[in-house]
Amino acid sequence: MSAPGVGLLTGVVGFPIAHSLSPVIHNSWRARHGVRGVYAPFNVAPKDFPDFLCFAPRLGLSGLNVTTPHKEAAFASAGERSETAERAGSVNTLSISEAGDIVGHSTDGEGFLRNLEQAAGWTPQDRAVALFGAGGAARAVAAALLDAGASVVVVNRTEAKAEALAAALGGSVRAAPMTALDAAFAEADLLVNATTLGMEGKGAAAWALPPLKSGAVATDLIYAPLVTPFLEAAAARGAATVDGLGMLLHQAVPGFKAWHGVRPTVDDALRAKALSALERRA
Ligand code: NAP
Repeated sequence: MSAPGVGLLTGVVGFPIAHSLSPVIHNSWRARHGVRGVYAPFNVAPKDFPDFLCFAPRLGLSGLNVTTPHKEAAFASAGERSETAERAGSVNTLSISEAGDIVGHSTDGEGFLRNLEQAAGWTPQDRAVALFGAGGAARAVAAALLDAGASVVVVNRTEAKAEALAAALGGSVRAAPMTALDAAFAEADLLVNATTLGMEGKGAAAWALPPLKSGAVATDLIYAPLVTPFLEAAAARGAATVDGLGMLLHQAVPGFKAWHGVRPTVDDALRAKALSALERRA
């Protein structure tokens, strides 16, 4: 059985998935660029993920975004992975051929850097970055920063994970203990929260930051809430702040380009649509 039409059906798979903003983003771009078909959310339990991927080509799915908790399984399932995915150690975007071949990509690092550039004119070359967190997203961000010429200090609650991240990437990425977090923030040109601390529903503990370098920029990967305790603390220290919603919008660009051959733009209209979807789900 052949696929009903390449590009007609794309989507996002996660568990749960109802809150995902990806359908709003991709369907807006489909409408803007006259791409027929639909981008749909797929709520798939971990035990069903292998079967889902197996049936994806027969469903006519040619592209998938992958979110929690399937990123590791997607990494393992991709027959081929881009160099960026290998460096990031995770996969958030899949291209699926009619024959069922699956290629995995990681677009979080690119989305992270493009968001900072668009929102704050921030570029990484020769900059010092303090990265709090050592999960999947942190590694993708660290790899992108390293490749773009920044030096990165990684600090994580579970120190061994920060050390493993630094060992995997090498170069100018190094791990430091939690006791060194404030010093890393104080010396950084860019401060990044890549932990889940401050996420909606996880308790909004107040965050205290030390005095920061003049011209420092702070960004949080979390986008719900849009203004996190981390960003509030950074603003109180005079830093420019960049929220995580822009990263979510920008990380979607490479997938759309790969699936439909058009590079979409992230603009105010798209951000407004995503923001109103965020408000509706709150
Ligand atoms: P993950 O792999 O589960 O990693 C979670 C990180 O948070 C780990 O470093 C963990 O530290 C840390 N953490 C959790 N609770 C903590 C606490 N109470 N105190 C200190 N550290 C704590 O998650 P992920 O996939 O990397 O995602 C991280 C964040 O980025 C999430 O909020 C996610 O929504 C966001 N994200 C945003 C985008 C975007 O486009 N804006 C894209 C990807 C991810 P331990 O190792 O010690 O547990």
